[in-house]
Amino acid sequence: MFKLFVDIWQGIVSIFKGFVVTGRSMFRKPVTIQYPLQKAAMTQRFRGMADLRVEKCISCLQCVRICPTAALDLTSVTNPETKKKALESFCFNAELCCFCGLCQDVCPTKAIFLNALYEVAYYKRSDVTAIDLMAPDKYAHVGVLAAGKGKP
Ligand code: SF4
Ligand code: SF4
Repeated sequence: MFKLFVDIWQGIVSIFKGFVVTGRSMFRKPVTIQYPLQKAAMTQRFRGMADLRVEKCISCLQCVRICPTAALDLTSVTNPETKKKALESFCFNAELCCFCGLCQDVCPTKAIFLNALYEVAYYKRSDVTAIDLMAPDKYAHVGVLAAGKGKP
């Protein structure tokens, strides 16, 4: 009989403790966000998709050479008078990329960088394996402002 009263008392106490925990959480700032209506801001060091500031690229090929997975491929033409190279094409294979960041680390002009894009679902495989980094709207269909991270 005594044990029954102890059990009932413990049950009441545990319910009360539950209410206290719930009540405290009701007035705390939420740690979650309403994704996908709200999007989390990525940190400066976040490594998203490879992106390019076309005007800064000098076609030195350092990013292509250092890439451990051969995810980058570019072609360029040399101006016979100025001897300067100009980009012709710059292709990124996101399927091969391991997001190591070596390309952006080695780039002497900070032309290539890993952006803040993390929603990278595509309908066709070919869209992932051959992303034209020179196209300004290359990530527009994914719906996130890719260059919003403010990298230098
Ligand atoms: S992040 Fe790494 S794997 Fe991806 S393109 Fe750059 S160097 Fe290659
Ligand atoms: S390392 Fe930088 S400048 Fe050189 S080819 Fe790659 S993106 Fe262009």
